[in-house]
Amino acid sequence: MLKIGSHVSFSDKGLLTAAKEAISYGSSTFMIYTGAPQNTRRKAIDALYIPEGREVMAQHGIDEIVVHAPYIINLGSYKDSTFELAVNFLQEEIRRTQAIGVRNIVLHPGAYTDKDAAYGVQRIAEGLNEVLRATSETDVNIALETMAGKGTEVGRSFDELAAIIDKVEDNRRLTVCLDTCHIHDAGYDIVNNLDGVLEEFDRIVGLDRIAVVHMNDSKNPVGAGKDRHAPVGAGWLGHHAMKRVIQHEALAGRPFILETPWIGSDAKKERPMYEAEIALLRGDVEARFGQAYLEDVERLSSFFQQQDIDAREYVLSVWTTLKNDAKAKKADPREPMDRLYEMIMEANLFEALSEEQINQRILGWFAR
Ligand SMILES: [Zn+2]
Repeated sequence: MLKIGSHVSFSDKGLLTAAKEAISYGSSTFMIYTGAPQNTRRKAIDALYIPEGREVMAQHGIDEIVVHAPYIINLGSYKDSTFELAVNFLQEEIRRTQAIGVRNIVLHPGAYTDKDAAYGVQRIAEGLNEVLRATSETDVNIALETMAGKGTEVGRSFDELAAIIDKVEDNRRLTVCLDTCHIHDAGYDIVNNLDGVLEEFDRIVGLDRIAVVHMNDSKNPVGAGKDRHAPVGAGWLGHHAMKRVIQHEALAGRPFILETPWIGSDAKKERPMYEAEIALLRGDVEARFGQAYLEDVERLSSFFQQQDIDAREYVLSVWTTLKNDAKAKKADPREPMDRLYEMIMEANLFEALSEEQINQRILGWFAR
């Protein structure tokens, strides 16, 4: 079974809350933070509803999920207090990950701040050596995430990841989380050359290391070094390029996790698009949303065709304007999905549908 899901909330009843949310999107895997990503406050392990969550997972055939370490962990820091906190807190997170029954904890390798990349690689490897030794009683892997290269992030190239892995003495518990938005933003052209990029990864790091794939579209063109996620189809990668990632034999069996933004005309109306993104990528949108959904997408398609609007061209031209034309952006900062939604509303195309349902149909149009 294809393992596909999204980031879900771990608040309230912990694993039980997370599993139920994931199932509501039709997920077959999911990813959690064990607490707020910005701080180190965590609940006791026996307050995480682990047996209850695992029971719901088992009922729905979910056998693999992923934990993401918080962003405050920076193993690349030259400041002793930041580095020590990172080393200690990552160990605790690994023990929690083990208790939840999860094999991979995703980690942003770190940032070198005022030093340089070589320093960052060395420091991160030093921290990983310490953490892996101290948690040798667990079988949790640390999945180093491929980064977009914004600021002083380490892990923006396959070579940097390989350099970290090489410097870790016992690196058997190091894996990789491949993020589609990040590698695209870092300059790897997976739209036009997915095979070539994966071959390059294989040569430099080794495909066996990939344990998790983050499925995010990007608001920026290839090589932008930015890291701003877009819903699947609403960015520079596009639905079809992302579907090729999911279907690629070199990545078969891995959990594919969406971390795409919620969409809505104002903050209160924002809703996750995961259910539609998952069904469209998996190819069971009719079973999930019914025949009427497909008819609505057809209607959308002819509505835009009448106005000579092509989905890909439109999305890319809006992002290009927002990026290159400050004046136009100031006059109209709306992103592609917001603009499309308003066109549909102005034309009264779907009077009976909610904003969320209309946005789900826009994603269906992107996937045609
Ligand atoms: Zn991440």
